[in-house]
Amino acid sequence: MAASSSRIIKPSASLLLQVIFLFLAIATSCSFTANNNNNSNSNSISNSSNQQQHPSKNSSNTTFNMSSSKDDTNSNANMIQPVAGKIQHLKAKEAALSRLLAAVRKEKLQALRSRPLTIGIIGFGRFGQFIAKTFASHGTVIATSRSDYTDLARGMGVEYIPLSDPARFFDKDLDVIVLATSIVSFEGTVKSLLPSLRAYIADSTKGNGRGPLIVDVLSVKDYPRKILLDLLPQECDILCTHPMFGPDSGKNGWHGLNFVYERTRIDGVVLDQISEAKKTVPVPHSHVEDIDLDEESFVEEGSGKVHSVHEHSEAHIEGKDRIERFLSIWEEEGCRMVPLSCRDHDIYAANSQFITHLMGRILGAQGLEPTPIDTKGFDSVLRVIDSTTADSFDLFYGLYKYNQNSMDTILKLRDSMDDVVEQLKKMELSDK
Ligand code: NAP
Repeated sequence: MAASSSRIIKPSASLLLQVIFLFLAIATSCSFTANNNNNSNSNSISNSSNQQQHPSKNSSNTTFNMSSSKDDTNSNANMIQPVAGKIQHLKAKEAALSRLLAAVRKEKLQALRSRPLTIGIIGFGRFGQFIAKTFASHGTVIATSRSDYTDLARGMGVEYIPLSDPARFFDKDLDVIVLATSIVSFEGTVKSLLPSLRAYIADSTKGNGRGPLIVDVLSVKDYPRKILLDLLPQECDILCTHPMFGPDSGKNGWHGLNFVYERTRIDGVVLDQISEAKKTVPVPHSHVEDIDLDEESFVEEGSGKVHSVHEHSEAHIEGKDRIERFLSIWEEEGCRMVPLSCRDHDIYAANSQFITHLMGRILGAQGLEPTPIDTKGFDSVLRVIDSTTADSFDLFYGLYKYNQNSMDTILKLRDSMDDVVEQLKKMELSDK
């Protein structure tokens, strides 16, 4: 009885199992298909249920196909299983790495916050104020400028000292001084501050005989680099930067915006621009052999001597550390960090930033106004006019005068305009 009943039960149990299996497979496959609208129609039941357990980019190509044979199902499953396993393994690895990255970032932030920088800003105009607001959340900010901005600065949590009292400004024991004056007034401002800066460095009761890190943010780069190298005392390290954004483009935060920088001088050693840039990005305009350098070594400009950051002085390590702490502010704000030589910056900028300002000014001079039938293209044109003419004419003039590549851009633009008009005229002639 037992035997006969088991004979009867066995087939129905197996059938039941098959039905359950089929039902489950259809249910999972259908719900999977419903979640993936881009499916094609090639794979099997086990394929779709496998893919659901291990979703990957490929899973969107999977769908349920009732006509597939069992053999097909098994062989597909065998093929996909190792890939699915591998993806799971890689995902676990990815998760572990992002946990590690989060821990490192947390430690870095703690290190930065344990020693916040005291930052001086010279030039508290449109751009100086814009960066001061963000710097104030990373450290202490003291600003100075030609005009009186006492009340405005106070509202931002920034201390203000008039430019007419530079000794008081330097007495604030600044780690970093950011030069944010107009390009045209840059050299004069640096020269006027030199006596007070030298006096501060010479005073043995202040600053350990070392000067502050001097950073410029000018929209041209070779020009301030040369002035800072020529004029500043050796005790001052130099970082040349250009945040490729301003109060308009950066009004909703700095995330994803380009920040160009060149570590120019550390502890009296001028870094070779090209080998520095080659560490991280290919430099299209340089024709120098690749040098195998790690992040912590650098080549001295002129002599070609390779220096290691650990090599000799504490001043060297401190100087490097101070630069990294300042750069970290921009990193933490989400900027896309672009190490680039000042020379290459100016080549790129003439054909990107300067031409945008030039076109904005030319189109602005035409007095263009919105119309009731504006296209999206025309909207963009008006936006370019608005954003470029919001900057001072001093800034535009500086882009022209102090980037040796700008005149070339103007000449090419004029030639291109002539060429295009010429093409129109030719076509009109042949049209008659
Ligand atoms: P700007 O017109 O280029 O510069 C205005 C600043 O220069 C003000 O702080 C002004 O001081 C100072 N200044 C002008 N003439 C002076 C003089 N003779 N002596 C002393 N100081 C003088 O406008 P900005 O937009 O604020 O730009 C400042 C710097 O940031 C420029 O070098 C620019 O290239 C760079 N930058 C600007 C942007 C941007 O989007 N605007 C982006 C990146 C970099 P007072 O206000 O006290 O008169």
